[in-house]
Amino acid sequence: MTAPSPPPEYDDLKRHDMPIPNAVYHPPPQQQQQMPQPQQPTAPPQNVQVAAVFQVLPHVGRDSTTIVCPMCKATVSTQVRYTNGTFTYVMSFLCGLFFLCCCIPLCFNGFKDAHHYCPKCNAFIGKDKRM
Ligand SMILES: [Zn+2]
Repeated sequence: MTAPSPPPEYDDLKRHDMPIPNAVYHPPPQQQQQMPQPQQPTAPPQNVQVAAVFQVLPHVGRDSTTIVCPMCKATVSTQVRYTNGTFTYVMSFLCGLFFLCCCIPLCFNGFKDAHHYCPKCNAFIGKDKRM
């Protein structure tokens, strides 16, 4: 007959007797200081009129302009085509009167209207009229 072995729980029981380190309870810092929330201005409802066909043409200059195409929404450098406008013909008339040559303004882009087109979708973006 062998003596019964001591219960194995002895070690566990002894472990429970170990002093528990003083757990200092740190209360979480109360963050009651409310940060002033920036007033987010409520955006006015945009009355997008679907029926509106006429778009406000962006201001473009004489030369090619980097602009967001209103049609394809791509940032493009406009393609400029110079066409004869009112100013062209007025200057032709004046040149014909004074210089007896009315074709001078027709040969220079500076006298013409600059029409800007989108190089991607070929949409008309805007124009710079001389008159
Ligand atoms: Zn476009």
